[in-house]
Amino acid sequence: MGWRDSAELALTTLQKLEPSTSKVNMRMTEMEEALSKAEFCQNPWNPSCESSEIELYIMHEGVKVPICRSCWQEIALSDLEW
Ligand SMILES: [Zn+2]
Repeated sequence: MGWRDSAELALTTLQKLEPSTSKVNMRMTEMEEALSKAEFCQNPWNPSCESSEIELYIMHEGVKVPICRSCWQEIALSDLEW
């Protein structure tokens, strides 16, 4: 189960427990903010990857790019240059 699934499950659980309190709405907003801020892989060679298991950052065309563990393994094994 990925991090998005876990977060969505938590949101659903909160909604079920306390469906109409403002407290829940506040907590949901906080969680959604945390989700949108969460860093995920921006591998320029694999744009569809959204893993949040960031292994390291690379400088690509002057921009700091987070790379996840599995993408990094592929990059490290390949001869790609940046
Ligand atoms: Zn990745």
